[in-house]
Amino acid sequence: LRTNISLEEAQGLVMALGGPVGQDWVTLTEAVGRVLSQDVQAGIDLPPFDKSPLDGYALQAGRTKEASAATPARFEVIEQVRAGGVPTQMVGPGTTIKVMTGVPIPNGADTIIKYEDVRREADTVSIFGPLSPGSNVIRAGEDVVRGETLARRGTLITSSLVGLFAAVGLAGVPVFDKVKVAILSTGDELLAPGEKPQPGKIYNSNLHSLLALCLELGAQPVSLGFVPDERGAIAERIGQGLAAADIVVTTGGVSVGDYDLVPDALGELGATGIFRQIDLKPGSPVLASEIAGKTIIGLSGNPAAAIIGFELIAIPAIRQLMGLEKCLPQKIQAVLLDGFAKASPQRRLLRGELEITGGKSMVKFTGEQSNGVLKSMVSCNVLVDVPAGSGPLKAGQEVSALLVGNLRGFM
Ligand code: AMP
Ligand code: MG
Repeated sequence: LRTNISLEEAQGLVMALGGPVGQDWVTLTEAVGRVLSQDVQAGIDLPPFDKSPLDGYALQAGRTKEASAATPARFEVIEQVRAGGVPTQMVGPGTTIKVMTGVPIPNGADTIIKYEDVRREADTVSIFGPLSPGSNVIRAGEDVVRGETLARRGTLITSSLVGLFAAVGLAGVPVFDKVKVAILSTGDELLAPGEKPQPGKIYNSNLHSLLALCLELGAQPVSLGFVPDERGAIAERIGQGLAAADIVVTTGGVSVGDYDLVPDALGELGATGIFRQIDLKPGSPVLASEIAGKTIIGLSGNPAAAIIGFELIAIPAIRQLMGLEKCLPQKIQAVLLDGFAKASPQRRLLRGELEITGGKSMVKFTGEQSNGVLKSMVSCNVLVDVPAGSGPLKAGQEVSALLVGNLRGFM
């Protein structure tokens, strides 16, 4: 069991615990947000045939070499083909076929001229200048060549990737199973939202922020509700989570107080401790354990610390289970728009919001920074990374920051 380690060591340790979950196959309508479990190759060229990019006339450019306003080149229109059709005639030196956008280039033709650039009279079109052969022709395979890898295992499927799969005729793709993440809150003081307020009790926000985070990630949340600070109750509920999910995340009860019983509950379950406590504010009370190949991450109960711990430690573990190639939060450099008066003896993450001003990345702090304050998490999309031993921060200072929230980016 490692204690008081760095955030990066903690991330490395949890990512080493779990490989990707099982595989499935889904149709295109279910594919967005899922992760490819195998490389996907194109079975056809895209486009599948040479085609016209516009409404026009297909012809041989050679006969237009001497064409001018005074001496136009004339072609006889022998056929008209609409989208989805195929030319049946062959284009010869003096003939042309009228084609709509997307129609295969007729045999014998090497060039398309657009409607607007010809004069049509009865069955004849006149062209008033030379054309270069090959112009306005989209070549087969210009976009994708048959056999080409469209996307690799571990890629998050985006909407445009779904379009690319459809374009090469795939009805579905192999994906990793959705990762099931069980969330449990612990604490004698907790009430469910909707219950009547009671003296000394607070509403359980962590359960809901973390379940919502799972949905944002494309994982499948499993709610374990909440339990009082009782070792047996915590152990039993974590056990249910392990049976129902791929990973279990708890909040509360991981500090060093009399009723911080999550470590004891894990001991009762026979878990192997991986680490306890990280050198970071907020969220230093945090732990990871392992039981029969499944990871349990215990986060601080402080609402902002729970979300930050989930972002920085649970998400990398979950993304690893999802089979994603990139699991760690992206780091950026930015300039502070305002200062922060306190010194930071310990490494500290401050909640900020990224603004692009004059093409530069700037960060403004989102409000009160203490562990329990939730409101300043709401618009937080960067965590300013303040090294241990820093003095107060000044506006205009360059800082490094991690992308989270609606900017959540991975490297
Ligand atoms: P703990 O980590 O159990 O020491 O809790 C730290 C602080 O977070 C305490 O003030 C708790 O009341 C609060 N807290 C714990 N769990 C939750 C929760 N699920 N929702 C909101 N606040 C909580
Ligand atoms: Mg507690």
